[in-house]
Amino acid sequence: MKKEKVIESCYSQLRKVTPLDFDCGKICDGKCCKGDEKTGMILFPGEEEFIDKNMKIFKNKEGDTVAVCNGSCDRNKRPLACRIYPLFPLLTSTEGKDAVEVIFDYRADCPIISEGYDINRRFEKAVRRVGKYLLLNEETKAYYKELSQVQEDCIKLLEKFL
Ligand code: SF4
Ligand code: SF4
Repeated sequence: MKKEKVIESCYSQLRKVTPLDFDCGKICDGKCCKGDEKTGMILFPGEEEFIDKNMKIFKNKEGDTVAVCNGSCDRNKRPLACRIYPLFPLLTSTEGKDAVEVIFDYRADCPIISEGYDINRRFEKAVRRVGKYLLLNEETKAYYKELSQVQEDCIKLLEKFL
């Protein structure tokens, strides 16, 4: 599948479904949309052409493509990172077989996690499907694998200090 089609399919999974059954921005005053010009969303290959044109795009020192918004956006054009937050579809591989496990993003600073809200099951399933779509193109799969490895490494590191 072409990477643009993969991205479109991922976006459509999370067009309407949200982490909670109500607008979670109400419990934190939309905390995750209040970054600064140094805080951005990592984009997957093929995503650039789909996101809100008001966002600034740059490459970070790791070579990731990052989009920065001004705290508001066209919801239909928000990046995948915003759609899946605060979850992450972790890619694991056992004996060459890929599997997707939905976890909390280790970077998430979100009351859904800290205050133990029940995640909407439909949202969780949609995030898992996103992981599966990302496997359908070599470029998105390779990048997804890298991001999953970073998640795994950081989780292991954090566990050492707990
Ligand atoms: S920080 Fe968490 S609870 Fe707040 S708007 Fe973002 S996802 Fe929702
Ligand atoms: S792109 Fe939209 S959803 Fe994502 S952080 Fe910015 S305002 Fe929030």
